[in-house]
Amino acid sequence: MLQSKLFTKTRKEVPADEVSRSAELLIRGGFINKEMAGVYDYLPLGLRVLKKIENIIRQEMDAIGGQEIIMSSLQRQELWQKHFNQDRWDDAKVDIWFKTKLKDGSEKGLAFTHEEPISNMMEQFVYSYRDLPFSVYQFQTKFRNELRAKSGIMRTREFVMKDLYSFSRNEKEHLIFYEKAKQAYINIFKRIGIGHITYLTFASGGVFSKFSHEFQTVTPSGEDTIYINEENNIAINKEVFTDEVKKDLELGENFKEEKSVEVGNIFTLGTKFSEPHLLFEDEKGGKSPVFMGSYGIGPARLMGTVVEVLSDDKGIIWPESIAPYTLHLLVLGENEKVFKEANKIYESLLENNIEVLFDDRTGISAGEKFADSDLLGLPYRAVVSERSMKEGGIELKKRTEEKGKIISLKELCSIKFTN
Ligand code: ATP
Ligand code: MG
Repeated sequence: MLQSKLFTKTRKEVPADEVSRSAELLIRGGFINKEMAGVYDYLPLGLRVLKKIENIIRQEMDAIGGQEIIMSSLQRQELWQKHFNQDRWDDAKVDIWFKTKLKDGSEKGLAFTHEEPISNMMEQFVYSYRDLPFSVYQFQTKFRNELRAKSGIMRTREFVMKDLYSFSRNEKEHLIFYEKAKQAYINIFKRIGIGHITYLTFASGGVFSKFSHEFQTVTPSGEDTIYINEENNIAINKEVFTDEVKKDLELGENFKEEKSVEVGNIFTLGTKFSEPHLLFEDEKGGKSPVFMGSYGIGPARLMGTVVEVLSDDKGIIWPESIAPYTLHLLVLGENEKVFKEANKIYESLLENNIEVLFDDRTGISAGEKFADSDLLGLPYRAVVSERSMKEGGIELKKRTEEKGKIISLKELCSIKFTN
């Protein structure tokens, strides 16, 4: 991509009401645009990051057998009340609903989750024990009228969630899938570059299980508090951190308190959303309710978290796996010969399938180009200038390094980047 053609620009100012450090960097880099508190747009650079995160999640969900669908955001009131009678339609019980009305006056809900509609839909497809187990997932827009929206893209009122739902014959079969999903989540956070600071965390459960599992990433800007047990590499959420739980889990007494952000969670639902309507005929000819689980991740929350934890005072430091482009090619000065050489390098990089953003802008000082490059945070920076040409090539430097080194075009094209 030619930076001169990119419609977004970097900027020095951020909206006065923006208090999140990650959102500030993302806005200044032109990755996102703020519409209002808790509502953001994704611009070309930001969308590339989001799509890469989604693809990593998709690969891991496919690997455990998940089947991808997309369900509607519009949901029927009757369905929430008729089948479940749990009052999750009631605004007094669920205070994050957005609702709207059709022309006939009937009320519809804008999805904040999908347990009710998906278990209703599955009545059409699940009859016998032979139809189970399976799992289904989607990247789907959720609406939540969040009270606090101060964490940039980590807590928004409209966001795409990856939600997976598993359908099993019984608890035993469910737990086999649950463990696979847990491992898939661990893989995702590792691949995205936050594995080393993300802890499997015991949190409050539901009717069927004592605990649910959250994945919590340590950062001072997090809204949650966890107690980390380093020996076992796990944590307990403050909301359930009691003596009883510590004893239950046999984790000893060594805990470190940290602020953290919940980047994902997995949950045993049991038959809460299948009873009494989603039944299957078991081997003996009797009827049993399907045993369910749900598994959520917010790709945008992950993106915001990465920026929170992987940045310095100059800007973002993207991990290679989710960077919008792998390499930032900069041409300095206005010399025609240098520009010609830089263009040749750009073409060669494209031919070698290296994802490159080429800062080919004219009338901009070297200092400004360097500052923009640090702000955008691509993993590698390659500079072509009169000086680098005199020294025999291109100056290559990692975003995390202070000093670069001169290499040839051939060497640059042969580097195994992981984009
Ligand atoms: P939280 O406790 O942070 O409010 P939650 O427990 O309500 O989140 P879930 O309903 O389980 O979260 O959603 C699954 C995942 O979706 C979360 O782990 C998080 O990654 C993401 N997520 C939840 N709410 C938001 C939001 N408002 N904006 C962006 N991502 C979100
Ligand atoms: Mg939560």
